[in-house]
Amino acid sequence: MTSGAFPTPVTPVEQRAPGRWQIATVTRIKPETPRVKSFRLELPMWMPHLPGQHYDVRLTAPDGYRAQRSYSVASSPLDHGEIELTIDRLDDGEVSPYFHEVVMEGDQVEVRGPFASYFVWRGEAPVLLVGGGSGVVPLMAILRHRRRTMPELEMRLVYSVRSAEDVIYADELDDDALVTFTREPPPGWRGHTGRIDSSLIAEAGLDSGTAFICGSNGFVESASGLVLEAGFRPERVRTERFGPSG
Ligand SMILES: Cc1cc2nc3c(=O)[nH]c(=O)nc-3n(C[C@H](O)[C@H](O)[C@H](O)COP(=O)(O)OP(=O)(O)OC[C@H]3O[C@@H](n4cnc5c(N)ncnc54)[C@H](O)[C@@H]3O)c2cc1C
Repeated sequence: MTSGAFPTPVTPVEQRAPGRWQIATVTRIKPETPRVKSFRLELPMWMPHLPGQHYDVRLTAPDGYRAQRSYSVASSPLDHGEIELTIDRLDDGEVSPYFHEVVMEGDQVEVRGPFASYFVWRGEAPVLLVGGGSGVVPLMAILRHRRRTMPELEMRLVYSVRSAEDVIYADELDDDALVTFTREPPPGWRGHTGRIDSSLIAEAGLDSGTAFICGSNGFVESASGLVLEAGFRPERVRTERFGPSG
């Protein structure tokens, strides 16, 4: 166990108004890949989010030490009273290993949100979603919400992962998703391999509209270049960066 400074459940705090810190209950934990899990949280002061927004999560150790991180909402705002967060475990991290190794169904965690007004989908179309690794999380919120509210609306996901076992939400990827494997494709794979390139963006069949790009710094840099090259206007390209390059 490498849960760092947080060996025990977080210290409860007084509950306040929506948008302020509140205590959520973990109702379901779903392993997505060997290093990614999804957590369903029930919120006492839930409010509908816009797909693309995130919550802040705060851990408090018994000695008062605190750590706070942001996690995108993966679920549709139609899931009343709850949100889903999908967390990639970083071996040398503080907060993500705590979620993976310590948090269990029924536990409580402190959250605040939803936040962000820029990386959000408000129903614009057509939409190109480009995600690398766990960068697919806010894009899945957009995709899930569109499937439930406006399935006819034009939207494609281009998703880059290392290997077959790293595909998050594998059972939900359909004709509207194009996956590329940068390291090890599954046996018999006939689709794209290697990093996202202009041919894969072209295969998505969209050259205008709004693009949402999310992943590591390096991923967002190169994907943005490709999307602009494909014809998207700079003001219609929205990006979210999850952390240092890698
Ligand atoms: C708006 C926003 C939304 C986010 N949404 C998600 C999400 O949906 N799912 C998710 O898993 N993460 C998401 N993140 C990243 C998340 O906030 C944390 O940064 C991540 O979980 C690492 O936290 P940690 O405490 O485990 O590691 P830390 O203790 O912060 O870092 C440990 C080590 O990993 C490096 N590192 C930190 N973050 C990353 C990263 N993202 N990639 C690679 N190396 C990193 C650090 O430099 C350090 O060396 C989001 C970040 C932002 C800003």
